[in-house]
Amino acid sequence: MILASQLSHALVGTDARLRRQVVYWAITVGLYAVCVLLLVFQVRVGVADPDVVSMLVTILVTGTLLFYLPVRMSGRLALPPSLLAMAQAIFAIGCIVAAYAAIGPARASTLAILVVVLVFCAFALTPRQSHAMSAFAVALLGATMLAMSRLQPDRYPASQELVNFVIAASMLAAVTFLTGRLSLLRDKLKAQRAELAQALARIQEMATRDDLTLLTNRRHMNELLAYETERHDRKGRVLSIALLDIDWFKRVNDAHGHAAGDNVLRDFAQQALGAVRTTDVLARWGGEEFLLMLPDTEPQAAAMVLERMRSRIAAHAFSTGESPLRISFSGGLTSARKGETVAATIARSDAALYAAKAGGRNRIVSA
Ligand code: GH3
Ligand code: MG
Ligand code: MG
Repeated sequence: MILASQLSHALVGTDARLRRQVVYWAITVGLYAVCVLLLVFQVRVGVADPDVVSMLVTILVTGTLLFYLPVRMSGRLALPPSLLAMAQAIFAIGCIVAAYAAIGPARASTLAILVVVLVFCAFALTPRQSHAMSAFAVALLGATMLAMSRLQPDRYPASQELVNFVIAASMLAAVTFLTGRLSLLRDKLKAQRAELAQALARIQEMATRDDLTLLTNRRHMNELLAYETERHDRKGRVLSIALLDIDWFKRVNDAHGHAAGDNVLRDFAQQALGAVRTTDVLARWGGEEFLLMLPDTEPQAAAMVLERMRSRIAAHAFSTGESPLRISFSGGLTSARKGETVAATIARSDAALYAAKAGGRNRIVSA
């Protein structure tokens, strides 16, 4: 059992696309085996030339085995899969048409095999490439039929060749049309899948971001806080958090309108983000309130980050459409204690924020 699976890995590899190609190759081998039996049988019953058939069988077997290597190594050789498939298709079409010219009375059966090859093309090639393969097959077959009816009119009577040609050409045209439709459907499915993936990514984005400021939203911040608190507890590190609240924000709305207030909130988010480190996470906690999480940060270092943010905001000219506006915020900073719940840490930070407001605003209070 294990040996069989090791053998299968060695033969077809583990990459899904490569496996598919090798499986296609193996199906072709099966088909060729049927062709070879057919050819040998025709020789046995005395209607095909043994020399021609043995040459054909040799080419078929060698060619098929030779194709295994580039198919198996296509990943390493960086060969485009469609190039390999085209080469295989041209080889197959050539062999089948040669068999048609070799086996005499039973030749019509090879036409069905030609159809199978073109169905294969539809799987491996673009519609254009597979149309080109069909046209090539019809042209090669037509030329061969014409040549055979001239060279061996007894075995290949012109009227019979004409019938065969019309049948083959219509079958190939129908198959090409149908497989073309199939590939359109496949493209449509692919496009729909890409759209779905995009929609999913958008939904995920919407579920974790605040619409107005594009900061992390409260729901996602709660998840991050739970995760980080647990991680910091486990590793014995310090997690600091701060609640920030814009001072007198109601006045901004009252004086400049709600839309201007929205713009100030967006601008505030950008300015505040500019003051934190890439490892810190800033979230919109609600209204004009924000929560900053500072992983692996001791209280003193956290206070420095917040002080930097405070002076940056105080120095920034916020645009309201009229005269530039100065605003400030107050902050309550704390660090999580070992084993304490997220809610308890936030409550302490909220109390510190309240103290900052009571103490005159535009300041950071640590608890
Ligand atoms: P304090 O310094 O005590 O925090 O005063 P404040 O005016 O900032 O606090 P208050 O809680 O009285 O008012 C908050 C204001 O923020 C009221 C509310 O309309 C406004 N606000 C909340 N969310 C939004 C929003 O999304 N857009 C706008 N434009 N305003 C908002
Ligand atoms: Mg406020
Ligand atoms: Mg508030």
